[in-house]
Amino acid sequence: MSTIFTRIISREIPADIVYEDELCLAFRDINPQAPIHLLLIPKQEMPRLIDAQPADAALLGHLLLTANTIARQMGVGDAYRLVVNNGADAGQSVFHLHLHILAGRAFKWPPG
Ligand code: AMP
Repeated sequence: MSTIFTRIISREIPADIVYEDELCLAFRDINPQAPIHLLLIPKQEMPRLIDAQPADAALLGHLLLTANTIARQMGVGDAYRLVVNNGADAGQSVFHLHLHILAGRAFKWPPG
């Protein structure tokens, strides 16, 4: 099922894209929760992390390494937070896998 993120990938709707390669895309969150708040998404449709299959292992690894690449590019490699909300009760509102990359302020633990 396609989502608003599919339409960002296809450029049907605009986004502030900061990174793209053959497998994934990163853009600024429209409702940022930190000075830097990016969403990193696979181009492949995968509604939730729990839907990942063993065959997706390389893609998932690529997303984590790409988060590192983007964090370094943004100058926040020493302090950033990754968040994946899996399922509505965990706070997921867009059902296309995405990693929130948050940085630029101090973060508390545990998260709310
Ligand atoms: P989640 O609640 O984990 O599913 O996160 C979805 C995120 O997508 C939220 O932080 C929204 O602010 C963000 N979002 C929704 N629509 C857009 C959009 N068109 N462009 C950028 N970010 C969006």
